[in-house]
Amino acid sequence: MTFPKIIDVRAYVLRGGGADYHDQSSGHWIDDNIATPMSKYPNYRESRRSFGINALGTLVVEVEAANGTIGFAVTTGGEPAAYIVEKHLSRFIKGQNPADIEIMWDQMYFASQYYGRKGLVINAISGVDLALWDLLGRLRQEPVHAMIGGAVRDELSFYATGSRPDLAKEMGFIGGKMPLRYAPIEGNAGMQKAVDDIGEMRSRVGDDFWLMLDCWMALDLDYATRLAIAAHEHKLKWIEEALSPDDYWGYQALKKAVPSGMLVTTGEHEATRWGFRMLLEMECCDIIQPDVGWCGGLTELLKISSLADAHGKLVIPHGSSVYSYHFVATRHNSPFAEFLMMAPNSDKVVPMFSPQLIGEPVPKNGRLSISELDKPGFGVELDRTLNLHRPYKD
Ligand SMILES: [Mg+2]
Repeated sequence: MTFPKIIDVRAYVLRGGGADYHDQSSGHWIDDNIATPMSKYPNYRESRRSFGINALGTLVVEVEAANGTIGFAVTTGGEPAAYIVEKHLSRFIKGQNPADIEIMWDQMYFASQYYGRKGLVINAISGVDLALWDLLGRLRQEPVHAMIGGAVRDELSFYATGSRPDLAKEMGFIGGKMPLRYAPIEGNAGMQKAVDDIGEMRSRVGDDFWLMLDCWMALDLDYATRLAIAAHEHKLKWIEEALSPDDYWGYQALKKAVPSGMLVTTGEHEATRWGFRMLLEMECCDIIQPDVGWCGGLTELLKISSLADAHGKLVIPHGSSVYSYHFVATRHNSPFAEFLMMAPNSDKVVPMFSPQLIGEPVPKNGRLSISELDKPGFGVELDRTLNLHRPYKD
């Protein structure tokens, strides 16, 4: 089977929510006093936007085949990622057969390895990779999940990340994950408030609903260990991303130190099979949480997932909407998915990447039928009425 060759690669930048889901206005739960590694600086304590969490914005990558079919993807990375895509990565994509994703990934990765390997560069590669999968699906008239092995379940079930697990329970989600809002700089009193918040939420949701805590890299090993032990009385299911993603040794020690039954999760800021190999072989966590828009794209996530499967670990991807859903549908070791509550008060379900995607499916009653994903590619369209800006041309 031959496909029309790829004739163009375009990288655009968009502002205002969407794939850069931290790019929100004031008053949104996602920017309200969340504990971060920057919390020790008073000027940057209250708001993550104050230290530039939304500095980059959304990256949109389009790949166009000779017959006019366009695949696209959205992720973060903004203008610097657009530069990398247009000025460096596009040479490995133009003129290629859209089905040759493995070789395109390999060339993008190894050609940029001297300045890449993690972070922004892998973020940019992820955007191109997802756009290639979308293009291939449109050319084959198949959903991505059908091209990577087929769905192993009829529907996805979700836990909700947001400020109101109690409302998430009413909306049918299987669990709720709250952000940690007290940092080590606030001392033992802050930790007690954090534990009290978990206890208060536990009293609202009852004993059997999953409650989790996302620490967004804000803690050190000692604090994280004490917090995990203190939160155990409220049946905290997992403690997420407690430490710096570079501190594999800290995660290894934390996993040994948390109370029996509590899970340690991390990986949303980890990248590639080699990064996740460290987390898995060092037994840093119970669940890995790669973000398909940051870890190297779907091509790399499949490798990461196989590695995790061989280690007996679950893969619950971080956010990322349809780009995660098509993957989760196909893996036995991804039994549920994350849904980011993007309503400012976490009080209703809105599309995760709103307003950038048209036709973005959302869970109903905490569930999503795989039949809703049965459209070519990732099954969504880019809203081209938005202010797409193309800062570089190759
Ligand atoms: Mg997280």
